[in-house]
Amino acid sequence: MTATINKERLLSDLFGQGKIGWHAGRGMQRAAYSEAYAEAREWFEGKMRAAGLKTRVDGVGNLFGRLEGRSRRTIMMGSHLDSVDNGGIYDGPLGVAAALEVIRSIEESGAAPEHSLEVGAFIGEEGEPLGGTFGSRAFAGLLPSGYRRETLDGFGVSEEAVTASKGNLANYAAFFELHIEQGPFLERRGLQIGVPFGIVGVTRLNITVKGEANHAGTTPMAERKDAMRAAAGFIHSWFEWMDGQKNMVCNVGVLEALPGHVSVVPGEVRFVLELRSVDDSLVKAAGVKALEMSKMLSPCSALVETLGAKPAVMLDERLVKMIKESADKAGFSAALMPSGASHDASPIAHVIPTGMIFVPSHNGVSHSKDEFTSEEDVLRGVELLKYVVCEADRRLG
Ligand SMILES: [Zn+2]
Repeated sequence: MTATINKERLLSDLFGQGKIGWHAGRGMQRAAYSEAYAEAREWFEGKMRAAGLKTRVDGVGNLFGRLEGRSRRTIMMGSHLDSVDNGGIYDGPLGVAAALEVIRSIEESGAAPEHSLEVGAFIGEEGEPLGGTFGSRAFAGLLPSGYRRETLDGFGVSEEAVTASKGNLANYAAFFELHIEQGPFLERRGLQIGVPFGIVGVTRLNITVKGEANHAGTTPMAERKDAMRAAAGFIHSWFEWMDGQKNMVCNVGVLEALPGHVSVVPGEVRFVLELRSVDDSLVKAAGVKALEMSKMLSPCSALVETLGAKPAVMLDERLVKMIKESADKAGFSAALMPSGASHDASPIAHVIPTGMIFVPSHNGVSHSKDEFTSEEDVLRGVELLKYVVCEADRRLG
């Protein structure tokens, strides 16, 4: 099965959807369940129908478009249609537009694929308002019961609708997601394609440093139990330790001092230390290190609590190999790499063999109106996706 993608049509879809929810000077505003989101989904559904796909929207709002093959066994491609506040046009929709174009080009080639082919356009992949990879977790049946019930009630999504959104997982032979890299790895190395072998796990530690609130003018420096001084010391030592670590990144993005007055020595400082790695054992060891360091903050004390720990996800070895070999055959420069960001592929990889393709992000920028991937890079990614899907159709059961 060989098929040629229609470059003009693909780019016209990509840029066309990029106008829905776009605000000049700010970028994309297309949060899950917003009006712009609904409009984008309807727009894509229209494109799918025009291509002869059978469409359906499930209980949480994921959109699917399906082309029946000779078998019920299904190869799915896709990504998400929601964006962060002030986002770009590529993060998510690229993978949906690509999937649609791949199916259209296969149809037009006259080939009759063995597998049924499906586009999955997932909802709520971004962190807000539903905690990230919401639609794909619903599809994978991985949401705990009662998950974010109040918020979902607000969107008119019942518990039954969430449960009913679990896909017919046994029917799926593979899931492929084409996505922008969202980092500088590929561009810095002059590479055209990234082949993620795993997606980092994310662990968040809530650290509370306790001291004693007191007057910031009259309390002698040597007698203070200054929670900020202790927290700052901890954070400084932590980053020094991190400089010696490999294959793991960390961030302190939230910090709060209490009671929070300019003239009061903080009695308590809370911050969140986030750790990411594809190697869960590194994160675990870092957690032990944090606990150790938290005991050295005298005269203050500290409490370390785990807020959440999503384990790393390894992608399907066979599909990773298939993608890398296909890229090599196509003459694209490609390298295996970890994904530092979470994707719809993360939950889906738990239930369906999953592979991903990354294309370069200019300057490593994403979640910004300045997010950019060149047309050449976009087209290479979609070409490769098509090549891989044809290969998978031949080789997978
Ligand atoms: Zn994304």
